Amino acid sequence: MKHNYKYSLDRSSKKFVCPNCNKKTLVKFVDNETNHYLNSTDGRCDRESKCGYFKKPTSNCITNINNCITEVIQPSYHNRKVLQDYCNTKQQSNFISYLLKHFEPKAVSRVVDLYYIGTTNYWHRATIFWQIDTKNVIRGGKIMQYNCGTGKRVKQPFNHVSWIHKQLKIKNFILQQCLFGLHNVNRITKKGTICIVESEKTAIIMSIIVPSFLWLATGATGVFIGFQIVFFK
Ligand SMILES: [Zn+2]
Repeated sequence: MKHNYKYSLDRSSKKFVCPNCNKKTLVKFVDNETNHYLNSTDGRCDRESKCGYFKKPTSNCITNINNCITEVIQPSYHNRKVLQDYCNTKQQSNFISYLLKHFEPKAVSRVVDLYYIGTTNYWHRATIFWQIDTKNVIRGGKIMQYNCGTGKRVKQPFNHVSWIHKQLKIKNFILQQCLFGLHNVNRITKKGTICIVESEKTAIIMSIIVPSFLWLATGATGVFIGFQIVFFK
């Protein structure tokens, strides 16, 4: 079969060193005419939750547009039904229990609704932080486990971070992350204040303490590549 695209992500299992995280997890782009790899920076890192690096080839696309189309990799997304499936009201996640020890139920309930904070038994009473973009498309659901007494993340005997597409065993899910809380950008007025913090937990707690600001989180991926931030329309 003839390739339709000038560049595609390499379909072999060969991995290269990722320019972002320096692990050997980069899937490079291949020039389908020459079968050669492109440069060492165009590619997608397999460590989607910890790194998320994804850079598409951009050069040489001026003269002949027909011969020069990069394969468009569509990110996967979840059906909105998952929000209901995991908004378990009978069993609180450890994170919600922790919040309820420190804040008014009404204030906690407000942020649960605002961010659609979910609960899953992937780990017992674990929390789901959905990444929903400005078009209300659900890009992913990050699963994390917290200690309900201290509110700290459970990192022993391993770091408890996973994704709902892994729990649902969705094959070939292309995770393209966005800022946590991004869907709420549409609610804010031009003069509104947006604050970006690292952790989802901080964004939630600050949203309770300072509800007049909009709190977003980068989710500790360390990179902004692939994030779509449209604050000023
Ligand atoms: Zn990487």
